Amino acid sequence: MDLDAFFLVEGIDEFTIVGIENLPDADRSGPLHLLPSARSVIVFGREIPIPFYKLPPGEKTQKMLHIAETLDRTAAHLADLLIAENFRSAVVPLFLPVRVVSGRIQGIVRLKQIAVLGGLGMIGKNTILISLRYGNRLVFAGIVTEMEAGLPKSPLVADFCGNCGRCVRACPGGAIGPAGVNAFRCRNISPWIPALLVPAATWLMSHDSVQRFAAPFISWISRYATMRCNLCVTVCPYFLCRGTGEG
Ligand code: SF4
Ligand code: SF4
Repeated sequence: MDLDAFFLVEGIDEFTIVGIENLPDADRSGPLHLLPSARSVIVFGREIPIPFYKLPPGEKTQKMLHIAETLDRTAAHLADLLIAENFRSAVVPLFLPVRVVSGRIQGIVRLKQIAVLGGLGMIGKNTILISLRYGNRLVFAGIVTEMEAGLPKSPLVADFCGNCGRCVRACPGGAIGPAGVNAFRCRNISPWIPALLVPAATWLMSHDSVQRFAAPFISWISRYATMRCNLCVTVCPYFLCRGTGEG
């Protein structure tokens, strides 16, 4: 399968493919949970245009959701094409399943971490991927597949998050710390889950059966909730410019 040609037609800005054997243990179990015979993970992303961030919250949310759904359709299309070539494949779901690690909720397939292994960028203090070409405005989707990855890609060696701390200081919820982002403190999620209910929500989200029950609710929230904040993206030096982060 010619992935370059496929992603060009789909309007995808960046992609990479990483072999299962090149994933650390922490990131191998998720893809194998989705597809036990998986040989690789394909991660791809689109740049969110800067003007989107300046729109009123409701409109901004809808635009970003539209990009996420477009990526989801590309993932389904790619999986179908690979299945037709006799490579079993599965789409990484847009919202669920998740896993709970040290009290923090993560996607079961950590696309950003896999993108880093595949050379697409590095992760900043705000846990957002910084790309040399697209700054911190890439949004990702992915599939797991039986197709082999080929030669391993090299992760970027430079650590270009300047640790300037702007994202930490700007966060109104105090959500960004040394261990990453506490999603329950993020202003986009905290209105839906009061602080008192966080331990119960964390416990519930660690159970597959509850996740299946919660999936329609999560989809509903994602569709209709308004994105209140993205300060940790917009204050970062990589928001407006690419490469060095200076500008
Ligand atoms: S989106 Fe806003 S509230 Fe959430 S982590 Fe970023 S700065 Fe904090
Ligand atoms: S705002 Fe500064 S510390 Fe935060 S991710 Fe961007 S470069 Fe890194």
